[in-house]
Parts: sequence; C-alpha cells; structure tokens
Amino acid sequence: MTASIHIAREVDLSALNTLGLPAIAEHYAEPASISELQAVLDEARSQQWPVVVLGGGSNVIPAPYIEGVVIRYSGADTRLEVEGDSALLHAAAGADWPTLVEATAEAGWWGIENLALIPGSAGAAPVQNIGAYGVEVGELIERVVYVDQADNSVNVLSASECGFGYRDSVFKNALSERAIIVEIVLRVSRHASARLNYADLAQRVAVPATPAAVAAAVSDIRRDKLPDPRQLANAGSFFKNPTVSEAKASALAADHPDMPRYPAADGVKLAAGWLIDRCGLKGVKRGHFGIHERQALVIVHFGDGSAQELSDFANSIAAQVADRFGIQLEQEPRRLGFSD
Ligand SMILES: Cc1cc2nc3c(=O)[nH]c(=O)nc-3n(C[C@H](O)[C@H](O)[C@H](O)COP(=O)(O)OP(=O)(O)OC[C@H]3O[C@@H](n4cnc5c(N)ncnc54)[C@H](O)[C@@H]3O)c2cc1C
Repeated sequence: MTASIHIAREVDLSALNTLGLPAIAEHYAEPASISELQAVLDEARSQQWPVVVLGGGSNVIPAPYIEGVVIRYSGADTRLEVEGDSALLHAAAGADWPTLVEATAEAGWWGIENLALIPGSAGAAPVQNIGAYGVEVGELIERVVYVDQADNSVNVLSASECGFGYRDSVFKNALSERAIIVEIVLRVSRHASARLNYADLAQRVAVPATPAAVAAAVSDIRRDKLPDPRQLANAGSFFKNPTVSEAKASALAADHPDMPRYPAADGVKLAAGWLIDRCGLKGVKRGHFGIHERQALVIVHFGDGSAQELSDFANSIAAQVADRFGIQLEQEPRRLGFSD
C-alpha cells in the first residue's frame, strides 16, 4: 500500500538554513520513512516537480524561490548492532549528527569523536564527506542506503562505491540529482584509537583518552573558534582548502615562508583561510555580510541580506585571492534550487 503524506505549499525556509537567507519552497515535505519518501517522489514525478533535498541546512545557499518540492527526510532512528569489540551504528538520515556523535562517544565507542559538533544531519554527512581534526566520515562508513529519485528503488552503496574524496563523494557527482540518502551505517569500535595529531586537541585531552573526552575537547575548540549559527548566521567554511602542485606551493612558499602547507594525494593542500587573511580580509564587512573576525574562512550574515549579495561578496573574495596568489578558490556550500 502506498503511504500518503502531507505536502505543504509556499513554505518559508529562512529558519531552515544556517545562513538565514530568505527562501520560499513552492512545495515542502518531511517524509519520516522510505514509503513516505516514495509517495512524495511519486507525486513529484506526476506533477513534474523538480526535487530539491534539504538536511539541516548548514551547508546550503538556497534560492529565494525554490520551484518544485523541497524534501527534508525526517526519519531519525538510530541503533547499534554490536559485533564483539566493534559495532555497526545505523542512523536514519534525519538524525542530528552532533547528537549522534555525542551519544556514541559517551557510550564509549571510538570512531566519530573528532567529528563532534559539526552541525547537520546524518544523511548529509557522506555528501561532502564531512571532516575535522584529521578524520573524514568516509573512513568510518560501511554503507549508505539511498532512494533513487528516478524510480523509487532502494539502493545500498559500500564505502568504496561512495567515491569519497576531500569534501567530495558520488552524491555530489554522478548521483547528485538522484540519490536521497535514507540511512548511513558506520563502523565504531571499543578499541582505543585516539587521533590527536592536532596540537590544540592533544593539549586538551588527558591520556589515557576516552572518546567522550576527545569529543568534548573538539566541541570546546570549535565553540572557541567558530561562530554559532544560532547567534551569527553562517555556513561554516565558505571555501574549500585548495590543492596546488608542488611547484606552485614551493614558489609561493619562497615569498611567504609562514604559509601553512599540508601534503595531499594530488599535490599540496593550502589553507584557504590563511590566503583570505593575507589579503587583509579577516573581519571585513560589506553590506549585510562579512568575514568572521576570528576565522577568515567563515562568511557571516548580519541579517536582511540576499543570496545574490552573498554570491557577489564571495566572488569578490575569490577574485582578490586569485589576483594575489593565482589560486582559484572553490565554494563549499551547495546552491539549492537555482535555475542556472
Ligand atoms: C558552524 C559550522 C561549522 C561547520 N564545520 C564543518 C566541518 O568542520 N567539517 C565539515 O565537513 N563541514 C562543516 N560544516 C558544514 C556542514 O555542517 C556539513 O556539510 C553538514 O554535513 C551539512 O549537513 P546538513 O544536514 O545541514 O545538510 P544541508 O546543508 O541541508 O545539505 C548539504 C547538501 O547535502 C544534500 N543533502 C542533505 N541531506 C541529504 C540526503 N538525505 N540525501 C541526499 N543529499 C542530501 C543537500 O541537497 C545539499 O546539497 C559546518 C557548518 C557550520 C554551519
């Protein structure tokens, strides 16, 4: 039997994106199960509505008016399947990621503690392969379950099929217009495996560490460094850290010996925040937007601004970095519902 579900019209999304941008969804639904999601997709296909997927709204720039239907999967069940010293952690896509990390770490399971306090939903975590403090979620993922918008089929991908890279996955590429993630499955362990390579993290964690202590330390550092979107609207890092060739990095380092550089699989990764800071932009304000005074990678919205104004501001930052360093920055938050 097909599930039925309420599809609302003309829904205000301004409180559902952490940048606080004004946005209206032509239609909006919050399916809580796979069958409810399939019912919304049936309706979207019969009405020929474009489908836009929203999670916690912490990494998106919504269009002022989103045509079609915005779907926010609200199923949020979580469960642990214990297999000796390790366990499979199942989380429905609508589960709140920070709550999941905290509960898992508190229960003594190692794996995702370095990813504490990253805002958003479990379902969005694999989309850009969230990462922090030397860990990416792709390292812990066993499988991802998604519903295909095209035909309602339920599909399972192993981690290797997810194509994880730096802030990247198959869900941003081949499956970007198709996959609606409904569940992720992560491997967590009882075996101590504290990853404390970052000096500021190591300083705050007493040894022997527990996952709860690491998660708490990560959360404290993040609260010190990053603006809370509930107080000052933002989407976290606005630009990805660029990767350049060894030759380019060496040439830049000759002029800027203090420039942070990190080895990457395909070259050398640079810190986008440092590049922006060196353009003298930290703390700058333009109209309704600005660059956060403590973190040059974060664009903040003071209210009453628009997606267009944000885009103009971001382009002007990227242009200044390109002029000064010859590096093209790539935006991290995803544009939702724009017709271009
Ligand atoms: C203060 C702050 C700090 C942050 N710090 C970090 C950080 O340290 N590391 C990091 O990696 N990110 C960080 N982010 C970015 C953000 O938290 C993550 O990208 C997060 O995974 C987004 O989750 P969300 O549920 O809010 O997704 P949304 O912002 O709603 O969506 C993001 C993208 O995922 C897609 N999507 C969402 N749900 C689904 C689904 N169920 N199926 C298919 N596609 C879906 C959307 O269409 C969109 O393209 C930060 C953001 C903020 C505001």
